[in-house]
Order: sequence, then structure tokens, then C-alpha cells
Amino acid sequence: MIETGKPQVNPSKMPSLTPKAIIHQKYGDKASYEVEEVQVTPENGCPGLVITQKAPPCLYRCTLHLPETTVVSDTFKRKKEAEQSAAEKAIEKLGLRQKEYNPTMQEAWDDLAGRVAFLFANEFLSFPHPLSNHFRAALRRDGHFNGFVPVSVIAVYDAKTTSICKFINPAAEINSLLVMSLVSRAAAKLSDLVIISDDQLSVQRRNLYSPEIISSIIHEASLLESTPLDVILIPVSREKAVEPLKLNISATGYYLDVIARALSLPGASDIIISRTIGKASSEMRIYSSAPKHLFENLSEPQTKQASHVEGSLNIRATYFAGQEIYGDAILASVGYTWKSTDLSHEAISLCSYYRNFVSKIPSGPYKVSRDAILAAQLPLAFTTKSNWRGSFPRDILCAFCRSHHLSEPVFSTQSSMLDSSVNLPGSCKKLKATELSKKEKSELGIAAVPTGVFSCNIKIFSKNQELLLECSPQESYRKQMDAVQSVALKVLHWLDIFFEKPDLSAEELGLLAKKFDIQFTHNFFKGFSLCHSVHRSGTTITQAADTTLNNVDGQNSGVTPTNGCLACISYTVSLLGEGDSTKEYIESCEEFEFEVGNQAVLPHLDAAVEKMAVGQSTYFTVELPLSELILAASGDSAKTLSLLSPRSCKLEYCVTLLQVTEPLEDRMEQALFSPPLSKQRVEFAVCQIRQSSTASLVDFGCGSGSLLDSLLSYPTSLEKIAGVDLSHRGLAKAAKLVHSKLNSLLDPNEPTSKMKSAALYYGNITEFDPQLHGFDIATCLEVIEHMEEKEACLFGNVVLSLFAPKILIVSTPNYEYNVILQGCTPRGQEDDPDERNQVQACKFRNHDHKFEWTRAQFEHWASELAVKHNYSVEFSGVGGAADVEPGFASQIAIFRRGEESGNGMECGSEYVQIWNWSREDQPVGGVS
Ligand code: SAH
Ligand code: MG
Repeated sequence: MIETGKPQVNPSKMPSLTPKAIIHQKYGDKASYEVEEVQVTPENGCPGLVITQKAPPCLYRCTLHLPETTVVSDTFKRKKEAEQSAAEKAIEKLGLRQKEYNPTMQEAWDDLAGRVAFLFANEFLSFPHPLSNHFRAALRRDGHFNGFVPVSVIAVYDAKTTSICKFINPAAEINSLLVMSLVSRAAAKLSDLVIISDDQLSVQRRNLYSPEIISSIIHEASLLESTPLDVILIPVSREKAVEPLKLNISATGYYLDVIARALSLPGASDIIISRTIGKASSEMRIYSSAPKHLFENLSEPQTKQASHVEGSLNIRATYFAGQEIYGDAILASVGYTWKSTDLSHEAISLCSYYRNFVSKIPSGPYKVSRDAILAAQLPLAFTTKSNWRGSFPRDILCAFCRSHHLSEPVFSTQSSMLDSSVNLPGSCKKLKATELSKKEKSELGIAAVPTGVFSCNIKIFSKNQELLLECSPQESYRKQMDAVQSVALKVLHWLDIFFEKPDLSAEELGLLAKKFDIQFTHNFFKGFSLCHSVHRSGTTITQAADTTLNNVDGQNSGVTPTNGCLACISYTVSLLGEGDSTKEYIESCEEFEFEVGNQAVLPHLDAAVEKMAVGQSTYFTVELPLSELILAASGDSAKTLSLLSPRSCKLEYCVTLLQVTEPLEDRMEQALFSPPLSKQRVEFAVCQIRQSSTASLVDFGCGSGSLLDSLLSYPTSLEKIAGVDLSHRGLAKAAKLVHSKLNSLLDPNEPTSKMKSAALYYGNITEFDPQLHGFDIATCLEVIEHMEEKEACLFGNVVLSLFAPKILIVSTPNYEYNVILQGCTPRGQEDDPDERNQVQACKFRNHDHKFEWTRAQFEHWASELAVKHNYSVEFSGVGGAADVEPGFASQIAIFRRGEESGNGMECGSEYVQIWNWSREDQPVGGVS
């Protein structure tokens, strides 16, 4: 544990507010952001491409409307950035930052009294402020309550009041009772203006408003309709279930009186209103009985004696609101806004209550964001952005901190890019520490930690800026994004364990924390003191399970998922009554995609999917998880609740494996090779091409053009290049890449390129096209394994006999190397000694691969072709080494034409040219 001194508010440690937050503090709902999409100029588009192009990424511009002014942001890739920029501009323009509130204590008290006086002035009644609606509604209250405004309302709905109170006593930040007591003390100084009720919970004007004003207010209300309001009752007794409640808000009355009556309280003044819960824009709050005894004690600042009323602490509501709540409580989303004088409200269902509840568990926001509460789990590792589904770890951690009323987590990333050459012990060691051997990496499977230059740490503070925990992992990453997400994920996992295991002692927790590179302070426990008493019921099912599948239906298509690929499943989860035939359907998804082997789903589900092939279905049952999870998932929480309580139930999962995609190949290549294998292949080819001093090149199976693009990055002797592929998507990408590269080469200041023309064709490379006959050099990188073996032979024959390039470079995976890539130990090896001697069967690197050859197979294919067509051939590769078993990761054959060779005069099919570029067509820049 890190020892921290006395908790202190250190202004320099206060995280600075975002521009939007500053605008919000000042203007609330009066600030309106309007975001528009800005079409990107077709600079990186691709004129002349016959394939319909994917819409270019769009940029956003934001217009911020404020009462005084309107500002427009620059354009940004993300909506959020545009909004922040607009807010920043407004702050600059209005000079908002200079005005810091820094009065003396006496001035602050005067300000508070002044504010209260302002609120009770005649003019305020017609002032467009959420609070003025309460003042008008107070005038419609019945009997002796008429005209009384609850102090809680002033304490909660007037930002100015609360900020002055926070200045007088910083504890006001988290204690609305304290704000109430400060307000009523300030009101007491205004005895000629207002009257305070005996219990100090409401305030009234001494001189009544004029009869005209009052009658207009009564009249205004008679035009409104009464509205039903769906709220949630959270009983103080935890034996009683949380239940939905319907209130009827009459038009003429005061809605807070209705809520008070539902809580068996005399009137609006007896309730205390919590801060908002959930999203920033939400008006969801908890209403409960104002504990007067506490209120009295508060007049002596900070002598809070909760002990004698502990019995009436509403644990669930307290946990939910993050502030102490006593007695029965109502959760409702209702209130006046800046926008209109009508009461705005939203129904709260039991399901949304439980979803909010689940969101307070560290992994909860992830489950909710995936809308798969009973299937999804926070994945073990942030492997790649493209494999991640659902909210990102950083956002989840921020949401988690917000829902627990902590400060926004502070991320700091370090880049060791510059340090690595300088001998700074810290940074160099860091990189070393994570240089795992290949074997270790493959043992770790996908959890292998790529090393790079970015590392990141996180600090989490309470609202009072007390440090709760810090996570400083050793790992470094190639991308900053990966560093940030990985550390956030780490913190979330550790928090998740803390939430799930109430029995962990501080020492055990500390040991565990070390493994997660986390240090926590004693304040940490304060921050989460209630979570264990709230999340208590039910077992958690995070332990890996060896599911015995009842049966697997459907033909074995042979396409099975491996670690690191994305599986797409459809599933339904139902509640099964044991011993009877009740079956209540709870959650389902038609297409749910997740990364296999990354613990991204319930262990049972992961285990089941690993045993299935595409097209197959199965089902299995599991013990019940936390009942809140089931209730959050269920569409009809009330019915589910009734099914859950009287009998013992199980959850049944029915799963169909629909598809398996995004194979190991890319990631393995990225994780295990530096530079990535694909880059090494391209560099190898570029090097050969430059040495050959040839003028024309065709890339067979050019895909998205990575080779063509790289070729244009170096000065070469090439004047003419072409690519052929069967993938429209690949070709469109290639066209864009090559187009923008070529245009940048036109710069007269950069006359290095001799390039005269470039073209892309849609066509099958096993067929000949005379247009591409006679090119000097041909490349075919990682393509043949995507065809049937017969076609690969056909391709070899067609190229060497008909296209007849001087040089042909072909690369394909070396199957023998897969042992290293996959660390492949066949399943069940440990249990079954007989299997140990069997040949290890590795999977192909990619599901689209029709074959992967050993070195012998590849050499056989290439040598036979070479002899037949009078070429010589030599073998090489990238990744690994020729003389170290099992050879190169990617094997490469380089064919060179002998004197005599085919002449390609034969007719063939026509490839469809889908894009071309030639220097003559281009406008000449600069001086001609
Ligand atoms: N050479 C690229 C792409 C490799 S992926 C690179 O190294 O990055 C394999 C590519 O081969 C895919 O784009 C696929 O569309 C293409 N391909 C497979 N069979 C083909 C065929 N018969 N004719 C043309 N292209 C083919
Ligand atoms: Mg391939």
C-alpha cells in the first residue's frame, strides 16, 4: 500500500476541467452543441476508379450556441474532439477562464445569502431556470405547505448555490445534507425576506407574491395534464425486493409531494434529493426521507454521527447514489430542465435499474455495452483494436469511476522512443523485461505482450483528490492506444476480482495487486466500502469450466475456431426451473462476435465454442450467476424475479457457431516478428526489384496494394506497374493508396521517380491476359495458398509459359513454422500418452488458406515448374533463418528466365482494367 498523508485538497492536483465541463458549469442546458459532418475533400479519394468507393472517412465540425454567442470549431475526426474544440473557443472568446471564484469566507457567506435572496425575489419566478419552476409549483402546494420551497431543492438544482457551498466547506461536494444546512443558515440571515420552517427543511417568502402572479401560476398549471410516472422503490430492508411503482403526477400539485407521499412522508420538504445517477445528462436521482437528526448535527460542521441510525441506512440506495440514504427510497427520472417549463420525466423500468446496478461492477459496463450481460465478459487482453468488440477499456474505466463518484482516472503515457538510444536505465530495462522468448510468447498464446515504445500508467483519485490506486505496468507497446487500453483493462480486472471476492484479506489483495502492477492506498477501501454488502447474492461463474456438451448438432464443417480468431455465434439464454418445465427466455443475440481464447465470454461458452465447427449447435446449463445480472438481462424483470425466488433454477445456453474469421496470421505476424512479417516480405521483394533494374512489374494477387505502395516509396528503375486481384475491396484500397502516392511523386521537387503508368485489373491470375505479357518482373506474395493446389500449379504454368517475366518472386507460408507460431500442443496430449508420439497437427494460419506447404513441398512445386519452363530457381525467405529449424516463416522462390522461353502470343481472357494512371494525363505542376 502507498501511504498517503492526511487527505488534503490540493488545488494543483485537481484535474483541470474539460472545456465542455466548464461550459456546462456555466450554462447547463443553455449550451447547445450542433455537430455536422464535413465531407472530406477527395484528396485521398481516387478519381477514375470504376469500383464504387467506400465513402471517405467523415470529419466533424461543431457549432456551439450560447446565449451570448455562437462559435464554430475546426474539423476533427471525432465528434467529441469537435465539441471540445468549440467549447474551448467559446471559453477563449468569453474570457471564462480568468474568473476564478476566490472570495474570503465572509464574502462567500454574503454571496450565499445574496443568492438565496435573489432566488426569492419577484423576478426569479419568471426567470428561465429549472429552480423557478419549483418556486411556482410551491405556490400551488396544498394547505399549510403552500408557498414553501424545500431547501433540498435549492441545494440540488442551483449550481451557483452549490458552488458557493463547496467553497465554504469542500465536503459539500459529496454531502447534500451539508449543502442544505448551509443554505438554511444563509436563509436565516435574511429574516426580513424569508421564513424558515421549524424543521429548517423549507423556506418561504415573508411577503407573499402579488395576487396576479399567483393566479397566473395557478392558471398555467390548469392547462397541463397529469402524467403517470414509472419509478423504482428501493426498500430499506434488503429482504424486500426492489420493485416498480407507478406514481401519478397531477398537473396542479407539486411532483415532489407525490414522491413524498409514496414514501409515506408528509410532504416535499421531508425528502432529500440525491445527485444524478448514471449518464451526465440524466435526471435520475434517488428520493428519500431527510434524516433530520443528521441535519441538526451538521450545524456543527463535520460532526456526523451516523452510528445511531445505522439500522435505517438504505444500503442499496446508498451504494447506488454514492451518498448516504436512509429509509425507503425511490429512484425516479423526473425534473425541470432549462429547456422548458414542463416537467420532463422518463420511465425507469426494473430492467434499467438492474442495468445501472450491473454497470457499477467494474466489468459491468462492458457487458452492458455488448448487450450481452449473460454471455460477455471483460476480455483478458487488449489484443488488437480490430478484434475488440464493445466499449473500450479506457471508456469503461472512466464510466466506472464516474458511477462510483471518483475523479476521472488520470492516464499518463510515456514514449521511450527517444530514450532507447540514450542509456537511461529505467526505460531500457522496461523494454528488456518484456522481451519474451518466442517460446514464452507462444506459450502465452494471444496474451503475448508485444514490446514497443509506449507505456502508460493510471492513477485513480477520489473526488477529494485522495489517491486510491495507481497502476504502472512494465509492458510497453508499439501503439499508444494499445498501452492505454491495456493498462485500463488491467485495472478493471483487478477491481473485478476485488468486487467478486469479498473474503480477500488486505494482504491477499495486496499480493494480487502486485501481479497487476497495482498499488492501492487505504483510501481505496473507503471508496468501495459498500460494494461487498450489495453484491452479495449468487455465485459468480468466472472459473473456467470443463463443460460437458450434451450434444453437438450439425455436420462438422471442419472450420473450427482457434485462439485469436473471431467467432460469430447466435445464442439464447433461458431460465430453467429445476424439477418443473418452466423455461423463461432471458437474453439472446442473433450475431455475437468475440475473440476466441481471450476470455471474452463466459468460460462455459468459450469452452463450448472451442469444441464446435461452423454450422454446429449445442446447449448446456450453468449454475445461476448474480441474480442482478439475470434481472438486468431479462426483458421482463418482474416475471423473472418471481420465477427466481421460489424454486431452484439453472441457466440454459443454446449456441450456434455461425462463422469464424480474422485468423491468427496477421496478429501472429505482428506479435512475433519485428518488423511484422508482411513488411519483411515486401521489403525482400522491393530489394530484389531494385537489384534487377527492370522497367515493368506486375503484382499477381496484389490485395490492397501493400507491395505497389512500398515500391513507390523508394527510387527504382520501374516505369510501369500493374496489379491484379479478384477482390474488389482489395483493389479499391490499392487504387487509393497508389493514387495518392503517385500524385505526391509528381511534385517537381521530387523528380526521383521514373514512373510513367500504373494500372489495376480485376482478373483471375490462373488465366492469361495478353495485356500483361512481357512485363520484366512479376511478384506473387502470399497468394498461391489461397487457391486449390491444382490451381497453384496452373498459375505456375500460365505465368512462366505465357506471361513469361524475366523474374518471378513467389512467397507462401512455411507450414513447418506453424509449430512456433501456434505453440501447437494438440488438445488432450497430457491426458493421453499415446497421442504424444503422433505428428503434431498445426492449423493453417488463415481460414482462407487452401493449403500450406512444407519446405519440401514448396521446393518440389517450384523446381518442377522451373525445369518445365526453362527457368532457374533459388529459395529464400523471411522470418527465422534458412539454416535454423524449421526454416523461414515465409518461404520465397525466385525464378529467373533462361534464354529460351515462352512467347505468350496465345490469346487469353481479358482482365478488366478498373483503374489506371499515367503521367501524361496528369497536370504538370510548377514551371513547365
Ligand atoms: N499480395 C498481397 C495480398 C495477399 S492475400 C499481400 O502480400 O499483401 C491473397 C490475395 O490473393 C487476396 O487479395 C486474394 O483476393 C488474391 N487471390 C486469391 N486467388 C486469386 C486468383 N485466382 N486471382 C487473383 N487474385 C487472387
Ligand atoms: Mg495468405
